[in-house]
Amino acid sequence: MVKVLAVLYSGGKAAQEESRLFGTIENRLGFGDWLESEGHEFIVTDDKEGPNSVFQQHIVDADILVTTPFHPAYVTKEIIAKAKNLKLAVTAGVGSDHVDLNAANERKITVAEVSGSNVVSVAEHVVMTMLVLVRNFVPAHEQIIAHDWNVAQIARNAFDIEGKTIGTIGAGRIGYRVLQRLEAFNPKELLWFDYTDLPADAAAAIKARRVDTLDELLSTCDVITVNCPLHEGTRGLIDEKAIAKMKKGAWLINTARGAIVKREAVVEALKSGHLAGYGGDVWDLQPAPKDHPWRDMRNPLGGGNAMVAHYSGTTLDAQIRYANGAKDIIKRYLAGQPQDPANVIVENGGYATRAYGQRK
Ligand code: NAD
Repeated sequence: MVKVLAVLYSGGKAAQEESRLFGTIENRLGFGDWLESEGHEFIVTDDKEGPNSVFQQHIVDADILVTTPFHPAYVTKEIIAKAKNLKLAVTAGVGSDHVDLNAANERKITVAEVSGSNVVSVAEHVVMTMLVLVRNFVPAHEQIIAHDWNVAQIARNAFDIEGKTIGTIGAGRIGYRVLQRLEAFNPKELLWFDYTDLPADAAAAIKARRVDTLDELLSTCDVITVNCPLHEGTRGLIDEKAIAKMKKGAWLINTARGAIVKREAVVEALKSGHLAGYGGDVWDLQPAPKDHPWRDMRNPLGGGNAMVAHYSGTTLDAQIRYANGAKDIIKRYLAGQPQDPANVIVENGGYATRAYGQRK
């Protein structure tokens, strides 16, 4: 018998009414009954902060931990030191930066995620956010709700995606899918920056140009989308200096991780109008505090904010995929079978993926 601890988000009434909200504490990833019928213990909670939280109480003897990026239990070095029995940390979703991967390696804990499970969901959200920002949708909608009507006030800051130069930082599963989807908008040019090559057939299949430096991407693009994991090399990557290199009036979209972008740098750039807009669904702390400045920051014309709670990768379509994927990872572990290599982030004390920074 093993002890499995899952930290998920609370679904409340929504989860009672919608059983496909698998990622909630109420619906237990859809496999709670299976796990218990196999004789295992399954503790599920959303209580994740502080030493008295259910998470920290049960982590001390859990064998397997399941977390999600949407309501992340931060698995720090200190938590790993407490987690004496922990052998496997599963991310139900994509993005395992909430786990201290170096500390996991020291203890030879395997960290695995459900690669690819929500990459289309996020790519669609990126394209939506791009449209929302470039077309100045949010203030236009707010105007209607306010029973107002002023076309010029909206149109003075509304543009088309067609003809713009658009670039992605990271051309992995999500970044590549964003480029694929943007082709239909007939942009001036699509660019990508990544230290990893695309497979030759994938590179040939899209009309996008690789740039050698981040600076080139920053200074050339009208719209930039961030699609790389959060790791030592990307924490705070988009700071004041990086934003200053961007064109005045550019739009920045980040559905990767909040901490890749410096909180205050974005607030100031939007306020000054250097950035025309910032949008995404990821925050440097989640849930975002009520007074987080990204909630109500605006550009000088009253728009430019397309922030939402972290949900791009947790559509109902995505939830079934990451719930089934997390079950498969646990099943393999219990059966002593190897994991699908595409899902493994760290294993046997080392990085199994190249996506979390350039390493020897
Ligand atoms: P992926 O591993 O397929 O691709 C990531 C790419 O980023 C890789 O090609 C890697 O080489 C590249 N990269 C890493 N560091 C870089 C750097 N410094 N500069 C440029 N490129 C760099 O991952 P993916 O499936 O495309 O997901 C990317 C990230 O998106 C995840 O790690 C996660 O943080 C985030 N994500 C967010 C949501 C959401 O709901 N908002 C959902 C899924 C994933």
